[in-house]
Amino acid sequence: MRVLLVEDEPGIAQFISQGLNEAGYATDVATDGEEGLDYALAAEYDMIILDIMLPKIDGLQLLRKLRTQGLKTPVLLLTARDAIEDRVRGLDAGADDYLSKPFALTELLARLRALLRRPPMQQDTVLRVGDLEMDVATREVHRAGKSINLSPREFTLLEYFMRHPRQVLTRSQITEHTWNFDFYENSNVIDVYIGYLRRKIDHGFDRPLLHTVRGVGYCLSAQTAND
Ligand code: CA
Repeated sequence: MRVLLVEDEPGIAQFISQGLNEAGYATDVATDGEEGLDYALAAEYDMIILDIMLPKIDGLQLLRKLRTQGLKTPVLLLTARDAIEDRVRGLDAGADDYLSKPFALTELLARLRALLRRPPMQQDTVLRVGDLEMDVATREVHRAGKSINLSPREFTLLEYFMRHPRQVLTRSQITEHTWNFDFYENSNVIDVYIGYLRRKIDHGFDRPLLHTVRGVGYCLSAQTAND
């Protein structure tokens, strides 16, 4: 999952983005409202974490602009403690949830998981493709009952495939949803990580789940072309 964090205070931005990266979210950080708007419109984020007090364009104005443009990405607002006015205005402006500063990282991560579970995203925390299972809450992955250890980035990549089973996903779709801007430079990074993932989820099992669709991209499916 890919997350945009719009936060101007460097210490807080660093604390949150580090926590998100460790939890396997590909995170971009924008440090003012204008940059936040540019980022939000330039890439397909799965979630936006938005501070209210921001230079140039404040969080509420930014949120209204995004909603006016039809962007439905879930937004979690970061508000000052006890600022009930801000929360009400934020929810009215189209926020999906809010969190008061200061907060524990574990709570932020729990709120994100809750927002990602809402429709149209999958309600169940366990995703299944064939005999491959991923629990997005506990972050456990099993194939045919055997536990599979994935790095945070491999997990993010596999989660994207598992949320779009049997669909052919292009490299640019995969990049948009699983990599932050730092990784855009290297165009074959996707293929490298697909290779890592294959070794873990397909190697040693009867039939492969992760298929290459020549000239198009990749597809996670329990069915093969011969079925
Ligand atoms: Ca701020």
